[in-house]
Amino acid sequence: MGVGLRSHVSPMATPEPSVTRPPTPAPHGSPAPAAVSLRHDWTVAEVKALHELPLLDLVYRAQTVHRAVWKDNKVQLCSLLSIKTGGCPEDCAYCPQAARYDTGVKAEKLMQVGSVLESAKQARAAGATRFCMGAAWREVKDGPQFDAVLDMVRGVKALGMEACCTLGMLSESQARRLKEAGLDAYNHNLDTGESHYGDIISTRTYQDRLRTLGHVRDAGIEVCSGGIIGLGESIEQRCEMLVTLANQPKHPESVPVNALVAVEGTPLEGQRRVDFTELVRMIATARLVMPASMVRLSAGRLQLSEEAQLLCMMAGANSIFFGEKLLTTANPGFTDDMALLEKAGVTPLEPAVDKPVAQ
Ligand code: SF4
Repeated sequence: MGVGLRSHVSPMATPEPSVTRPPTPAPHGSPAPAAVSLRHDWTVAEVKALHELPLLDLVYRAQTVHRAVWKDNKVQLCSLLSIKTGGCPEDCAYCPQAARYDTGVKAEKLMQVGSVLESAKQARAAGATRFCMGAAWREVKDGPQFDAVLDMVRGVKALGMEACCTLGMLSESQARRLKEAGLDAYNHNLDTGESHYGDIISTRTYQDRLRTLGHVRDAGIEVCSGGIIGLGESIEQRCEMLVTLANQPKHPESVPVNALVAVEGTPLEGQRRVDFTELVRMIATARLVMPASMVRLSAGRLQLSEEAQLLCMMAGANSIFFGEKLLTTANPGFTDDMALLEKAGVTPLEPAVDKPVAQ
C-alpha cells in the first residue's frame, strides 16, 4: 500500500513546500536522499501500517527520511527545569505533581527569577542549547507570577539560549506576551489519542489542549507537542495521536515522545514498563509523518540501555532532555549523556543554525 514518505512528492501530498537540504556524500555509496513531502492528510490506517512494519524496515525508512531533512549526527540538547513543582489541581493519571495523588511530591512556590537563570547558566555550560521551564499549573493566570515567568524568558534569551515554557493552558493574550518576551517554543502535550484521553484526564478536554496550541501557533511561537506511551492505550490510539499532530495546519516544530515512568501513588502506578521497541516504533513513525519536526526522546530514557537510545536516534530522534532531573523524575546524568554522544560521534544541534530548510 502506498503509505508513508516517498522520495518524491507523492500524489497524495498536500501542496506544502517540500523540505530539502543540500545533498551530502552518501554513506557507503548509497544514493543521497531526495526531497521529502510534508503531508497533513494522514489517516490512522496509514500511520498504523507504517507503525507495524518490521522494526528494521521501519527504522531504515525513518533514518532515510531523517537524513533527507536533518543534518546527520546532530542532536539537540534541551534542559528542563521545574520552576513551580507540585500542588497541581489537574488529575492527569500519570503525574506525580497532581495534588490529589499521594506521591511524596511536595507543593512548592514559583522559583525566584535569579535561581532559574542560575540553573540556565549551568545548563548552558554543560552544553544545553534550549532551556525549558515547566510549572505545574492548570493554566496561566495574569499577575505577578506570570510577570516573573516573562522575566525568566527574557533572561534565558539574554544567555543566548532558546527559551521554552510549559505552563498549562494559555489565553491568546498570554501567548502574545510570551512571544513579546522572546519565547521560542511552548510545550503543551496532547498526551494520548483523543479516544483514550478521557481515561487519563477528566479536568480538561482534548479541545482545550488544541485551543491552547492554536493560541501558541497564532502568536508565532513554535509548537512543542507530543505524548506519552504506556498509558494503557492501544497501538491505534498511539497512531491517532500522531495523526492529530500531523494533520494540524502546520506540524509541531517539536514532538516529544515519552515513555510512562510509573510513579507510586498515581493511578497508573501499576502499568507495565514500555518495551524499548515500542518507543523506537513510535519515534520512527513520528519521524515519517512529521519529517521536519524535532522528535524528542523524552521521559523514560533512564530505563533505556545505551544501545536502545542509539536505536531511537537511528529511528529519527534528534533531541533529548539533558540533565539529572526531568521535572520530578530521574534522567541520565550529564556525564553519561556526553559520554554516549561522544562514543557515537553525535554533536549538539545549534539553535537557529541546524533547522530544517522549510516546514
Ligand atoms: S501533567 Fe501538568 S497539568 Fe497534569 S497534573 Fe501534572 S502538572 Fe498538572
